[in-house]
Amino acid sequence: MSSYDPQNIFAKILRGEIPCIKLHEDEHTLAFMDIMPQTEGHALVIPKEPAVTLFELSDAAAAACMATVRKIGNAQKKGLGADGVVLMQLNGPGAGQTVPHFHIHVIPGSLADLRKPHATHMADTAHLKTLAEKIIAAL
Ligand code: 5GP
Repeated sequence: MSSYDPQNIFAKILRGEIPCIKLHEDEHTLAFMDIMPQTEGHALVIPKEPAVTLFELSDAAAAACMATVRKIGNAQKKGLGADGVVLMQLNGPGAGQTVPHFHIHVIPGSLADLRKPHATHMADTAHLKTLAEKIIAAL
């Protein structure tokens, strides 16, 4: 079992110590824009429960994440006109996970978009906010 580092970047976002472009929040989950998106509208869904990978996450938190993923994916389809939504979820450094707080990537686009480099180019914040507004309007 991986030990949880409360100083990881997503824990800081959950505590409000660093900003994010928020899409949706409820009792158990938070959804926000990825700052190094692989496609236009790339979002992340995280549980509030501290867990590094799926293998430490409770069933209840996993279910809450999937409910939020469904909300965000539907809003990406409606708000951005995405005709496909890819989910990606990496467990452990061996899989390429870079932030050690469980998260699901919700990526409007196709499998071909995932072949582009992962988490490499910072997007323009104003542009991310414009995309976020379209997603939020469709929630
Ligand atoms: P992983 O590689 O762990 O599956 O994905 C981590 C994701 O978090 C990457 O897609 C990366 O772009 C994103 N990311 C890293 N740091 C931050 C941050 O400070 N804010 C936001 N919104 N996303 C981040």
